[in-house]
Amino acid sequence: MLNRRHLLCCGAAAGLFTALAGPVRAGLLNPCRRGLPDALRPLVERTFEGLDPAQLWDVHTHLLGTGDSGSGCTINAQLDQWWHPVEMLRKRVILGAACIPPDAPSVDRAYAQRLRALAEDFPVGARWMLFAFDQACDDAGRPHAGHTTFHVPDAYAARIAADAPQRFAWVASIHPYRADALARLDAALDAGAVALKWLPSSMNIDLRDARLRPFYDRLASARLPVIVHCGEERAVPGAGRDALGNPLLVRAALEHGVRVVIAHCASLGTALDLDRKRPRDVPAFALFARLMDEGWGERLLGDISVVLQANRRPEVARTLLTREDWQPRLLHGSDYPLPCIPAAVRLPALASAGLLGADDVLPLQALREHNPLLFDLALKRRARWRGARLLEAVFATRPHFQRPAGA
Ligand SMILES: [Zn+2]
Repeated sequence: MLNRRHLLCCGAAAGLFTALAGPVRAGLLNPCRRGLPDALRPLVERTFEGLDPAQLWDVHTHLLGTGDSGSGCTINAQLDQWWHPVEMLRKRVILGAACIPPDAPSVDRAYAQRLRALAEDFPVGARWMLFAFDQACDDAGRPHAGHTTFHVPDAYAARIAADAPQRFAWVASIHPYRADALARLDAALDAGAVALKWLPSSMNIDLRDARLRPFYDRLASARLPVIVHCGEERAVPGAGRDALGNPLLVRAALEHGVRVVIAHCASLGTALDLDRKRPRDVPAFALFARLMDEGWGERLLGDISVVLQANRRPEVARTLLTREDWQPRLLHGSDYPLPCIPAAVRLPALASAGLLGADDVLPLQALREHNPLLFDLALKRRARWRGARLLEAVFATRPHFQRPAGA
């Protein structure tokens, strides 16, 4: 029951697709143009001014697949069933965003191919961190297919990264309740994973569970960061797991010395303020802000993927743009393939909110049609609030994911 109501890609997307239960609206489909017209080159050049491409790692990139290449990837069957029309639409929009034609001989291959083609428009050195995505597990650590919206095995993410190591690194995903979780973590470390990804509410992970302690110890000693999706938009009746996405729960990992990246800076939805005697719901982002001010230093990071999406409050972007003191701990990420959905980011609305120059709207729109990854980066470079902008440090993410030799 839980995951069919979630989307293919984090709670971020769940919010977006809440709006899609009605008829398909214009602006959902990526036109999937190729190549970069000369007219857009000045915008692209400005985007990279002052950035060192070798430090530019996109810390949030999804791999998806149906398993048709033997990848082991799965997408929940409900996303193909006409009696689940919202789920079907989600899948269609996501596959369309990734420019996978309905008659593609292999969804797995077409997805990876498109991603590689988009990456080629970037300067040498820029890289993407490709996410594996583990299955949901029950409390006993047994995988639960019915609760798993999509699954991307570690081995597949590692293989796609190894095929183009100049462009890709990979991020493991291991449910910590699994009986062999530690062995899987060691295997991921040996295979060069640069981080670990969890989506606690969807995967059923309680960050406070005592069983996680040995796992935390290993993450801390290896200095492997865990990217945790926090914040959620809507309650899932009966499942009661949205509480697991409460940003304050990452303290359990931080206290064990684990480096944590909070995905999307917890910019969506509400969570209980557990620090109050009588907890009440507050924006999850407010709890992220509290953690950022608690003195965890470099141990606590936030990725800025999708924070400019239409389903975020402008307050989020204004805070991130003006908190210069946070910015060395904010990390560029795209949440690909979400930037490929034109309706996800409404540029005129951002201009009206004072977050973007009116002159930037049309060039950015054109750039999105040709290369949504370049668009996503350019948008973040152009975003402003009363003169404040994101510092170059936000785009120099690589040092956060380099492990000491032998760790
Ligand atoms: Zn994501």
